[in-house]
Amino acid sequence: MDMAIAWDWLKQKNFRLNDPNLHPVVAQRGWEVVFEAWRKGIYVLITQGNRTFKEQEEIYAKGRRKNPDGSWTVVNKKEIVSNAKPGESYHNYGIALDFALYTPDGKQVTWDMNTDFNKNHKKDWMEVVQMFKARGFEWGGDWRSFKDYPHVQMTFGFSIAQLKAGKRPSRPAMVVQVPEPKITDKKKEEYMIPVAKADKIIALIQAKWKEKDEQIKQYQKMWQEENAKPDKCQQKLDEYHRAAEALRKDKKELGELADEVRKVSGRRAANN
Ligand SMILES: [Zn+2]
Repeated sequence: MDMAIAWDWLKQKNFRLNDPNLHPVVAQRGWEVVFEAWRKGIYVLITQGNRTFKEQEEIYAKGRRKNPDGSWTVVNKKEIVSNAKPGESYHNYGIALDFALYTPDGKQVTWDMNTDFNKNHKKDWMEVVQMFKARGFEWGGDWRSFKDYPHVQMTFGFSIAQLKAGKRPSRPAMVVQVPEPKITDKKKEEYMIPVAKADKIIALIQAKWKEKDEQIKQYQKMWQEENAKPDKCQQKLDEYHRAAEALRKDKKELGELADEVRKVSGRRAANN
């Protein structure tokens, strides 16, 4: 599992889930989805949670003009992003969320529904949708008209008409618990060696590797010199040979060690 994005970073980006105007159950389930997705290598950004009536009007006004009598006229159909007037969106009651996905480097936010960043042969977007649905959310992508793919909502059985009439889902007295990785998850992050440190460790290993290499060459030279003697000593030859062999084994181990360090630091293994 590649945890490219740190949980603490993603948690901060999802500050909208901490909005006290959000229904606590929606906030809690929202955090659970963001966390579950993070553990699977999908990085969810909640782009919208609670939306005030004023904010809703600003959104509804896109592509429309408000008339003096309060009615609206469409000016540019292409600019329209919502058909919900103030009070007509579940966002206005803190019981809807919109989401998008971060690219694994955290540098971009995408609404692409076909990406499979965690490479499990499932579309990340639909994986997230399933996580929301499993927790009682309705998905805007299931609507027959005006599909709203980044939108999920929890109606608690209330229609917009009922909400407009002043009815509200009850808010349980609960403190929203932001999930935290277990020690095993944290360890995984800690095990990663920063590239700069890894390079220093590799340099030390390489110095040792060269040292062994020099020693091998010395034994080879000694072997050759001994072997050239008319009265060469077989015992010495064997001894030099064994010493060189032992050093070769050490050298090989050091090479493997350097590759290990390269791996956990994200450096590519060298072909030596
Ligand atoms: Zn929405």
